[in-house]
Amino acid sequence: MGTDRDEIEAGPCLCGNGLIRVDRCSPDHPWGGGYWNEARIDCAECSQSYAVAYNEKNEPRLVKQSDVEAQKALEKKWHDKIREIEASAEFQNLKSILDKAVSACKTKKDQHRLLTSAGITSGSYQTYLKNPHYRFTGLDALKAAATLSVKSPNLEKMAAELETARAAMRVDIPTVKTGMKNLE
Ligand SMILES: [Zn+2]
Repeated sequence: MGTDRDEIEAGPCLCGNGLIRVDRCSPDHPWGGGYWNEARIDCAECSQSYAVAYNEKNEPRLVKQSDVEAQKALEKKWHDKIREIEASAEFQNLKSILDKAVSACKTKKDQHRLLTSAGITSGSYQTYLKNPHYRFTGLDALKAAATLSVKSPNLEKMAAELETARAAMRVDIPTVKTGMKNLE
């Protein structure tokens, strides 16, 4: 099964030498249901500088390629910071304190309670019983440190930097206005 597409709009690209086209797409079987729009940049020059992005409703919009790359760099910074936290001696120390505290729990119920309050697990007790494993990551370091009463200024500093990186990453990429009615 494939996709049916119909061009529903074409407008001038930003340099004026080509077009931006919007296709209405639907699955090519009779019980297919919904449709969605896809946009493409039909200009060699503009496709170097611009890209099509889709929002959470799967609607297309035009964005700058440089903004997309800047966003990727921000995401990388955030991932790198998580790795930096996890590689630190403070985190490794906290991890061994956590592992010991979990082992010292008398029941699985107590383990689940500890892991939940440390922010490491968010699943139900039933789920934990079926699969009593946990993965401690740099994302949970600060909450776990507080729960286990471990003081670490360096961990706090890195967690604050992680939060800054997360906030920067969440800023939306601006939409490039085209005047086309099927582009956001
Ligand atoms: Zn162009």
